Amino acid sequence: MKALPRCKMCRREGKKLFLKGDRCNSSRCALVKRKYPPGANGPKGYPRLSEYALQLRAKQSLKRTYGISEKQCHNYFQEAKNKSGNTEITFLKLLELRIDNVVFRAGLAPSRRATRQLISHNNILLNNKPLNIPSYQVKVGDTIKVKSKKKIQKMVKDNLAFLKDKGKETLPAWLDVDLKNLEIKILKEPEEKDLPQEFDNKLIIAFYSR
Ligand code: SF4
Repeated sequence: MKALPRCKMCRREGKKLFLKGDRCNSSRCALVKRKYPPGANGPKGYPRLSEYALQLRAKQSLKRTYGISEKQCHNYFQEAKNKSGNTEITFLKLLELRIDNVVFRAGLAPSRRATRQLISHNNILLNNKPLNIPSYQVKVGDTIKVKSKKKIQKMVKDNLAFLKDKGKETLPAWLDVDLKNLEIKILKEPEEKDLPQEFDNKLIIAFYSR
């Protein structure tokens, strides 16, 4: 099935998934202009949802935010379930520890999609070695660097402009980000308080536990 364009994904979920960088925080955001679902019946507004539909929408929001496939999402759930501890927390931790998410959280690219491009075009070094796997799970002590190509460094530095407004304190506490040298160090694994709050994990886990 063909994937929905990114802004339509947000309109389908009825909330901002922040898939287009700066545009998402501007008045050009499609959800600001059209806060109703895509399609012919869209302007009628969002329908009341059954319990199953709520679970499905919660899972779709998460999957679309991280830009992963259904199979990957299901695999993360299985992996989290097989590990000891709280499945909801482990599930989100696995997603947060993807290298594409880490580079995005560090502010080196405006969206996870842009980060994936940086990685798959071989512009990122993990522990000084090239790595082109966006789903790679980083570990404590790993260092991530942007390759020293001038063009790429300029592009990344341009993307960092948003930090001037938001401040460095918006960076996750589990990462040490050297903005001058475009280098990230994984200080520790994210704890529960470091995990994103916008997802309804209970509904997502209920969806996969059916
Ligand atoms: Fe979603 Fe961003 Fe498009 Fe707004 S601009 S609808 S937040 S992708």
